[in-house]
Amino acid sequence: MSSPLFKKFNIEAYKPGKSQIKKIKNIIKLSANESALGVSSKVIKVLSNKRINFHRYPDSKAILLRKEISKKFKCNFEKIICGAGSDEVIQILCQLYLKPKDEVVVPEYSFLMYRIYASIAGAKVIFAKEKNFKISIFEILKKITKKTKIVFLANPNNPTGTFLNKSELLDLRKKLNENVLLVVDDAYYEYMKNSGYKSGLELFKNKNNVFILRTFSKIYGLASLRVGWGYGSKKIINALNVIKPPFNVSQVAQRAAIASLKDKNFVDRSIKHNIIYANKIKKFLENYKIFSNDVTANFLMLDFSQCRLKADFFNKELKKKGIILRSTEEGYKIKNKLRITIGSKNENLKFMNAVKKILN
Ligand SMILES: *Cc1c(COP(=O)(O)O)cnc(C)c1O
Repeated sequence: MSSPLFKKFNIEAYKPGKSQIKKIKNIIKLSANESALGVSSKVIKVLSNKRINFHRYPDSKAILLRKEISKKFKCNFEKIICGAGSDEVIQILCQLYLKPKDEVVVPEYSFLMYRIYASIAGAKVIFAKEKNFKISIFEILKKITKKTKIVFLANPNNPTGTFLNKSELLDLRKKLNENVLLVVDDAYYEYMKNSGYKSGLELFKNKNNVFILRTFSKIYGLASLRVGWGYGSKKIINALNVIKPPFNVSQVAQRAAIASLKDKNFVDRSIKHNIIYANKIKKFLENYKIFSNDVTANFLMLDFSQCRLKADFFNKELKKKGIILRSTEEGYKIKNKLRITIGSKNENLKFMNAVKKILN
């Protein structure tokens, strides 16, 4: 029986960090940059509230959540749009801007969703070389043509963990053609205590040609609930609202996100935990000649070029012990490296013990 033809996309589907291993029950998942401390107790309280009206559609404008965001981050309520993860915001942004023959520039090792959604919208994805796994402004500018519509970057970048400092970001915006939209993805900004770092939101709040992405999936620990937001000019936000699926963020997710913003203590504890354990793991691995980027967000990119084991082999050995890291080979095409998420105290200790067993 024949059936209608559908479009063909020449893209590699996103492969999430693995969360299961055959035959092993208590796995330690350090592959998706999720929150080490789970979620705030304030969120748990909201989620166990029996008065949530599950039979009602959620507020399509996410008014209360946007109000809370605007209060918390001192930004304009009308310039915020919420999505089912920042993922969905990336998707509708691509739908809004891109048509076939348009070009999008992304750093060569950047977060995969930019290239995926840009390709689905029909645009051509142009890769800008990096220097020692750090975004190069020079290389990005080299790739700009009359067809360029958007430059996407994550700061700090996933999976490399490197970042552009304040003056580099400002320099990029200054030298970039005004008619190119710069998208700065602040997914990990809360973790960033590095000198010279400034979030995209803080730097570009009032710029019409910069769009900012934020998420509740990382430090706030709401990855499963799917909440993120975008920040841009009223003109962009209004246009996005026309094409946005009307009920994209569930009421439970909106309420949980509001509660999570009210728990500063949880975020502070998460930041502290991350700095302590990221440094601990980094130093520990150096004993085995596994080197990594400077500590930035809640993950490290591990380099095996000086270690006596190859990244792939090491990864397989860890897997046998129930510990999952992220291969950087899949999707990102980075050889002989692995990405590790900083886990809970217990998970980190178990990881370090496993490393001892594998490498001693
Ligand atoms: C994890 C991550 C996100 C978050 O995606 P959500 O769809 O909000 O879960 C966005 N950008 C980058 C760079 C990330 O690493």
